Amino acid sequence: MSSTIYLDNNATTRVAPEVFEAMSPFFCERYGNPSSIHRFGGEVMHDVDVARRQVADLIGARYRDADGMATEIIFTSCGTESDNTAIRTALDAKRGRTKVVTTAVEHPAILHCLRELEREGVEVAVIGVDNRGRLDMDALKKAVDGNTALVTAMWANNETGTIFPVEEICRIAHESGALFHTDAVQAAGKVEIDVDALGIDMLSISGHKLHAPKGVGILFSRRGIPLRPLVVGGHQERSRRAGTENVASIVALGKACELAKANLTAESAQLARMRDEFEKKVVATIPAVRVNGDLEHRLPNTSSISFEEIEGESILMLLDHFGVCASSGSACTTGSLEPSHVLRAMGIPYSAAHGTIRFSISRYNTQEELDFTAEKLVGIISRLRELSPYWKGGR
Ligand code: PLP
Repeated sequence: MSSTIYLDNNATTRVAPEVFEAMSPFFCERYGNPSSIHRFGGEVMHDVDVARRQVADLIGARYRDADGMATEIIFTSCGTESDNTAIRTALDAKRGRTKVVTTAVEHPAILHCLRELEREGVEVAVIGVDNRGRLDMDALKKAVDGNTALVTAMWANNETGTIFPVEEICRIAHESGALFHTDAVQAAGKVEIDVDALGIDMLSISGHKLHAPKGVGILFSRRGIPLRPLVVGGHQERSRRAGTENVASIVALGKACELAKANLTAESAQLARMRDEFEKKVVATIPAVRVNGDLEHRLPNTSSISFEEIEGESILMLLDHFGVCASSGSACTTGSLEPSHVLRAMGIPYSAAHGTIRFSISRYNTQEELDFTAEKLVGIISRLRELSPYWKGGR
């Protein structure tokens, strides 16, 4: 067993060795600029195109038009850029409509972008969730109207793994003539995605969540939607995202998508088995714990567990002492002692929200690592509770 047990895969993932191997030649050997006229550059453009097809294949998108031009997959620098681009694109494409409907548990890449737009006069409706993180579908139906340019709802939540009914949300958006975008940053590679079957208009993916490097993402944008570039300049990506392509990372993302697609069903089943076994052990050996999220519709790799009456940060520090890396809330909110906006939106009581830890696993974890973590947790939690003035023995 390695000295580091990395259970924080929703924060970022290890680059897969196959991915690293695929991207390596693009630093010192195949370093041409894909926009160059010469063959050295042209060959690299071909590699970017192969990656585009690999990404398109993972989500059921088209990667070329009939005229041979790159189409529905646009490479970006990260999931955040993809999310921002999607929102601004919808408001441009549906000019005259000034409302965006979203959910209370979106990533800051969506919520902060919308907060900015509110200052520019955009109306933002934020739909709540129940204590299992399930979206209030009645409230959603009421909020989406003829003034709605966009409904944006994440495919799966980064903190609890809860999966939203994207097909139904998409249908509700379309019934009012709005576009539908989904942040699939946590879902990609873990659940089946078919943008065509579901009629999704725009979808975001980030490389570093599925074993490609940090600093690359994609936005899927359905053919015919006039993309509003956030970054302007050169004509890369058919003038939809300027800036010389991050070729090595693009090739890496393509390879990561190919691997994810090839192993998706078996890998997801294996992750779910390991995660469930881990949760079973924790629940059986530690009193006053609660597993958060929609347990029937959840990412296979994510386990959000609340340990009542203790501080999550203390748990993390003691886990770290044993080489176990996990997270309290999302990585982006670590450092603040306020419970995350997701747990607050779910109405998890403060006494439980404060002691919530997210364990997120990947293909590189073993059951042995999870067993070790579950065993160590027993001692950690009982020690911290002995010190807690609030702990009344689980009564
Ligand atoms: N959306 C979700 C659901 C995420 O979990 C994250 C990252 O944590 C992002 C968007 C942002 O992705 P990136 O780090 O590539 O900007």
